[in-house]
Amino acid sequence: MNEERSIFSFLVEGARRVFGLYPPLPLRIHLELTNICNFSCPMCQRKDFALPEREMSLEVFHRALAWFSSLSSLREVQLFGWGEPLSHPHLMEIISAIKRRGLYLGVTTNGSLLKGRMADGLLASGIDEIVVSMEGIGEGEFGHPSGRVVAGNVSAFLKARGRSGAPRVTVRATLHRGGEDRLLELVRFAKEHGVDTVNITRLDVRFKPDLRRPSPAEERTILKRVQMELAGSGTELACTYIGRGKGLRRMLFRAFKSLLHRGGRDCPKIFDYLYITVDGEVSPCCALPRYIVGDIESATAEGIWRGRNLAEFRRRQREICGPCDVTSVKQRTPPHSPLA
Ligand code: SF4
Repeated sequence: MNEERSIFSFLVEGARRVFGLYPPLPLRIHLELTNICNFSCPMCQRKDFALPEREMSLEVFHRALAWFSSLSSLREVQLFGWGEPLSHPHLMEIISAIKRRGLYLGVTTNGSLLKGRMADGLLASGIDEIVVSMEGIGEGEFGHPSGRVVAGNVSAFLKARGRSGAPRVTVRATLHRGGEDRLLELVRFAKEHGVDTVNITRLDVRFKPDLRRPSPAEERTILKRVQMELAGSGTELACTYIGRGKGLRRMLFRAFKSLLHRGGRDCPKIFDYLYITVDGEVSPCCALPRYIVGDIESATAEGIWRGRNLAEFRRRQREICGPCDVTSVKQRTPPHSPLA
C-alpha cells in the first residue's frame, strides 16, 4: 500500500476507533493451525489454557477458507495460535490456498523449525511475513529453550532471503523485569541481521504470578533505549504503546494514541479482528481461546460479527478480560500486584 493510501486508511480507521464504530466486518483473522507445541516457554499461556491438544484438520481449514470468501472486508490472515504452525503437516498446501485468495498472509513461529526444506518452502511459498517469537539470542529463564538455535535459523533465513526482502521478517519479544540487557542484545541482533520489524509487547499477567514486568516508568525507559538502538537502521520498532508504522503515520499515532485507544476503555485488538481455533470455533481474541462467540460451521462471518454474543462481549470486555493489558497504551495492572 502506498504512503498516501496508508495514511488515508489510517485516518478512516482512526476516526472509527475514536467513536467506537466497529467496521462492518472484520479485517483480520488469526487462524490456529495447531495448539501443539514443541517448546514449553515460561511466558507462554498455552499450558494455562489446558486446551485439548490437536491440529486443524483439512476439512476445518477448507470450511474456514469458504468462510473467508464471505468476508469481502478481509485483508489479512495470520497463522497464529497456541501451538507451532510450522509443524502442521499440510502447512504448504494451506499457505498456497490462502495466497490464491490474494490475502496478506503471515505465520508466527517459535523459529525452531525455520530451517532446511521448511525455510526453502516458505521462501518459495509467496507468504508475506514470518513472525518469530524470541526472548533473546542465548539460553535463559525468560525465553525459548533454544534461543541460540532460533537466532541461527533466523540469521540463515535472512541470508537466504537476500535482497528480495520477501517475506518480511518480524521478531516479537516480551518485556520482562530484569530482562532489559537481554532484550537490547536481541534488538542489536535484529538490526545487524536485517530483520524488518521488532515487535515488543507486555506480559499477559493473568496466568504468570512468578514472572515480573517492568513498572510503567521502567517500560518507557526500555522502549526509549530500543528506539535509540534502532534509530537510523532499516529495522522498525512496532509497539502498541508507542506507535507503529513510519513517518507521518507514526507521528499521527503518537499524537492521538490515547484517543485511538478510547482512553483505555476498550481493548484495541478486538476492533477489527477474529480468532478461529483448531476446531473452527470463533473467539474475539487469541488470548481468550475458551470464550467462544460462534463457529464457522453453523454461523456466517457476518452473523458472528454483528451477532448477540460478540455484542455482549464488547459490552462486558473489561470485566471478561480482567487484568489483561497487553494491548493497552498504559499499564492497567500494577506490575507488582498479587496478579502480576
Ligand atoms: S484485553 Fe487482552 S484478553 Fe481481552 S481482548 Fe484485549 S488482548 Fe484479548
